[in-house]
Amino acid sequence: SLTLGIVGLPNVGKSTLFNALTNSEVEAANYPFATIEPNVGVVNLPDPRLNRLAEIFGSERILPATVSFVDIAGIVKGASEGEGMGNQFLSNIREADAICQVVRVFSDEDVVHVAGKVDPLADIDTVATELILADLQTIEKALPRLEKDARKNKDLAETVESVKAAEAVLTDGKTLFAAGFDTAPIRELHLMTAKPFLYVFNADEGVLTDADKRAELAAAVAPADSVFLDAKIESELLELDPEDQAEMLESIGQDEPGLDSLARAGFHTLGLQTYLTAGPKESRAWTIRKGDTAPKAAGVIHTDFEKGFIKAEIVSFADLDANGTMAAAKAAGKVRMEGKDYVMNDGDVVEFRFNV
Ligand code: GDP
Repeated sequence: SLTLGIVGLPNVGKSTLFNALTNSEVEAANYPFATIEPNVGVVNLPDPRLNRLAEIFGSERILPATVSFVDIAGIVKGASEGEGMGNQFLSNIREADAICQVVRVFSDEDVVHVAGKVDPLADIDTVATELILADLQTIEKALPRLEKDARKNKDLAETVESVKAAEAVLTDGKTLFAAGFDTAPIRELHLMTAKPFLYVFNADEGVLTDADKRAELAAAVAPADSVFLDAKIESELLELDPEDQAEMLESIGQDEPGLDSLARAGFHTLGLQTYLTAGPKESRAWTIRKGDTAPKAAGVIHTDFEKGFIKAEIVSFADLDANGTMAAAKAAGKVRMEGKDYVMNDGDVVEFRFNV
């Protein structure tokens, strides 16, 4: 499954957030692997549509999709030069599918800031710079070989051009993601700043309730997604019953737990979407990539479903919700039979027909 790697400067609240993630205790059945690795935190993707499906189908249980975060040992200035944990850090980031940087916004005199003062945008720059330098090193190593190969193989001319263009973006101090750079032609270099970024602003009440300040930070990191939360109270929230939780959230100006917002943003950053299945046993969300076809989606349930795919009976959640039952949705002509070329939409409620 796809993962987001959690990074950030020391003392910004990474471990605090990661502990909350691991305390969220995703039901084992939700997670496709028997054991969750100690450095992986898995959270449910909140999805109220599943409650409605469970009501319509009388499902015994609800299984939401999940999002996985990998805790990556702290970045230090000079990581790109292999300082400290640098090399390990970089190789761990290479394995993640997206980068989730925790950024300190909270002020607390008892918690030392490595750079001496709380400055979220400067911290973001520090981490980006290390990743940019590491990517430039990768390019420096790869370019002479590519240029040499391109002299024999004309097809590589475009790749060389693309690598040089990427180098220019990076030299200019921008990540490839922030620049919207098309990295498809140079995928084989596995450049780190090509990965999508997500920023978690670890803030206290003052900032969480300040819409202008939040908008300002979010705008500064766009097109990356931003999440605002207080890492310290996320674990506490998990312990509360819904009523007390709602009260606590209101006091810090949040309409849902930060982990829920983080799950949504993580899912979005990874380019994922869900489709839904429902029956008396369970209502369930399944994770696919945007653009996946019906057989590919079926393969997430079982590889045999993909191989033996015949067709899919599909109704959009909105149509099913509006009609109230599957029979009513059918009578209203809202249930379609789709073939193997059908591209899935988020919230499709599906029943696959397949040969075994
Ligand atoms: P890491 O080095 O990034 O993993 O940071 P930690 O999670 O260990 O947090 C460093 C210190 O900051 C700890 O003492 C935490 O209790 C504290 N801390 C973390 N998040 C918050 C927060 O949102 N507000 C405040 N005031 N302190 C926090």
